Amino acid sequence: MTAFALAHAKDAMTATADKINLLGMSQDMLEQFFAERDEKPFRARQLMQWIYQRGVIDFEEMTDLSKKLRERLQQDAEIVLPQVQSRFDSADGTVKWLFATDCGQAVETVFIPEPARGTLCISSQVGCALDCAFCATGAQGFNRNLTSAEIIGQVWQANSELPRRENGELAVTNVVFMGMGEPLANYRNVIPVLKLLVSDLACGLSRRRVTVSTSGIVPHIDKLGDECNVSLAVSLHAPNDALRNEIVPINKLHPIADLLGACWTYAAKHANRFITFEYVMLRGVNDSIAHADELYRLLNRKPAKVNLIPFNPFPGTVFKRSSAETIRHFQNRLREKGLVATTRKTRGDDIDAACGQLAGEVSNRVRNRLGEKRVGDRNIKVVSA
Ligand code: SAH
Ligand code: SF4
Repeated sequence: MTAFALAHAKDAMTATADKINLLGMSQDMLEQFFAERDEKPFRARQLMQWIYQRGVIDFEEMTDLSKKLRERLQQDAEIVLPQVQSRFDSADGTVKWLFATDCGQAVETVFIPEPARGTLCISSQVGCALDCAFCATGAQGFNRNLTSAEIIGQVWQANSELPRRENGELAVTNVVFMGMGEPLANYRNVIPVLKLLVSDLACGLSRRRVTVSTSGIVPHIDKLGDECNVSLAVSLHAPNDALRNEIVPINKLHPIADLLGACWTYAAKHANRFITFEYVMLRGVNDSIAHADELYRLLNRKPAKVNLIPFNPFPGTVFKRSSAETIRHFQNRLREKGLVATTRKTRGDDIDAACGQLAGEVSNRVRNRLGEKRVGDRNIKVVSA
């Protein structure tokens, strides 16, 4: 096996030892794969269309590849999808899948149908190490990164299980990295997936329909801006460092000023397209009018819009959701001052598919290794109940 093939195979945990999993390889990676076999670059394009547009993963069915090449592919390569462990259908049309990874672990993927679009919320890691105080995934800790195949495989499986739209399009029209994990902490495997999502030879989604949500890994926001100009959502959740340090601990490493600096640079690279700032509404923690004013001062006159997320509870959390009235006042305050502010509708809560409720099945390697619970006691100041 060549060095290139070895490097990729190490990544593709789902592939068998001596075969390369071609799922999740970007066009340039596939071209390299074919070049190593003295095949022309257009083979990569053919393969991408078979896999992502026609949903074909059996080399035998790829009839515009020569018989010889198909045989060669059978020998050297395979297309291995993440396996659906279970599926839950919500009364509101939301669908949640549990995908088996390995060793009894599983991640979650959620499809949210709306009249104008079908949004798939995908996972990028088994668990998450960033430990945000209000997040079910964070509370479980981190097990491992998903491979590119396991990430794009969630999209492939959703498109294969769901009926096409009325206009004949595939069911998934929008992809958001808002499932389990921090996508920019799995940068190396996420980039090929982003390339496939926006490639006309694969999923063909416009860059506006692919959103990376990050809690703020600043150096990788900078890199992403140079490599792939998809839409960016930033989990801000607090308007000052003192509070953000407590509820989004990565803030201690990359404080708000640095994070916003990276955001404005990102926007500037992409024709000042708006960045979405997610703000989870936690009762008595970050939801006062004073907080709204502070948030306004951070985002005023910038290419920014705010998406308020009513907190979704999960077992064992100390937080409560702000009341509908508090959320409305907070939103109105931002709007009166001229910011674009929306409130996210909670979908699929009867199947625990709402934002921040995705827990999958994760055993925390970090925690297990230390033999103790890594997520320690927190000292969050709740000023009203
Ligand atoms: N790790 C990335 C993406 C996954 S989380 C990130 O943090 O941005 C997707 C969104 O759900 C984030 O904005 C996250 O802060 C939010 N979220 C996490 N837990 C939540 C909860 N319990 N209720 C509502 N939103 C939550
Ligand atoms: Fe990780 Fe995002 Fe949850 Fe924070 S909110 S713990 S970054 S998944």
